Amino acid sequence: TLKYVDEFRDGTLARTILAKLKKQCAGRAPMRFMEICGTHTVSIFRSGLRPLLPSTVELISGPGCPVCVTASEDIDKAIWFASQPDTIVATFGDLLRVPGSRTSLAQERAQGADVRMVYSAMDAVALAEENPDKEVVFIGIGFETTAPTVAAAVTMANRQGIQNFSVFSAHKVLPPAMEALLSSGDLRLDGFLCPGHVTTVIGAKAYEDVASRYRMPCVVAGFEPLDILHGLWMLVEQRLSGEARVDVQYRRGVTWEGNTAAQRLMAQVFRPANAVWRGLGPIARSGLAFRDEWARFDATQRFSVPTLSVREDPACRCGDVLRGVLAPLQCPLFRKVCTPQNPKGPCMVSSEGTCGAYFKYAYDG
Ligand code: SF4
Repeated sequence: TLKYVDEFRDGTLARTILAKLKKQCAGRAPMRFMEICGTHTVSIFRSGLRPLLPSTVELISGPGCPVCVTASEDIDKAIWFASQPDTIVATFGDLLRVPGSRTSLAQERAQGADVRMVYSAMDAVALAEENPDKEVVFIGIGFETTAPTVAAAVTMANRQGIQNFSVFSAHKVLPPAMEALLSSGDLRLDGFLCPGHVTTVIGAKAYEDVASRYRMPCVVAGFEPLDILHGLWMLVEQRLSGEARVDVQYRRGVTWEGNTAAQRLMAQVFRPANAVWRGLGPIARSGLAFRDEWARFDATQRFSVPTLSVREDPACRCGDVLRGVLAPLQCPLFRKVCTPQNPKGPCMVSSEGTCGAYFKYAYDG
């Protein structure tokens, strides 16, 4: 497969597309595109594309980092689950160090809470099987790429008759957040670079409303440097021709309809629900809640979770970074107080976080 990956990192081809992009933008007004997803943000930094782009093309990062957009309240809930007796909390590694109102899962673990890092929801089901005398709560964060795998784990636990497994569903779906960003009116934007992996599941049609209602060009792009350059070229092309539609650059992975089997699985277990996003606040139908038939796997119904008083560090500007209205370098804490070793907010903790990417690639050589 490396052969195929290499094809999408070909330097000569990259220079050719860059030259075309520069020609296309020459003498044109500046344009601002948002890469919605953290995977794009990291890839853009890692490949060193940013300084090579025409000076009139500005890239801003969006809210597509699952750890970063998890509301403080949900982080606090995850920590609350970890404080319950005979309970194991299973979660993805990135979430461990995100500061909640008072503490983090990692700090709670150091104090004796049973918090385990897992790579998938299936690992958490296995953990439940191995520990029948404990409750295992999986903290379900992530977008449409992750949610079907969690749905699959839930149906598997059901088939196997596992009684001590539940999920705290803090999953999010992307298109409603894109609409919320645009309707807020505080973001000037010329187009969205949409994520290849999420769109493999939801299909390019998922952005049709965003494109038509807000007259916003959308291009679904892969994550290799050539994909990104090609995607940007397609965005500029659309913008300059005055059009607003959904184009797919990542044709080797994305169809218009998406992965209908994964969509069915997700819809079998979850239903759309309102959700609170860090930085963006509550957004209608942007989350996934358990359908009634699966309520026994819903950690919030299995446990009596109290209302928790949330306290956010007012100095952390993650919310503004996620809305694309502030660059990490403009946050007064960036690098001075907030570092990957001592993160003040999730955007610095997560491997897909914008602040973390700026720190690692813009400052660490
Ligand atoms: Fe928050 Fe740190 Fe990013 Fe500032 S640099 S917005 S404190 S995560």
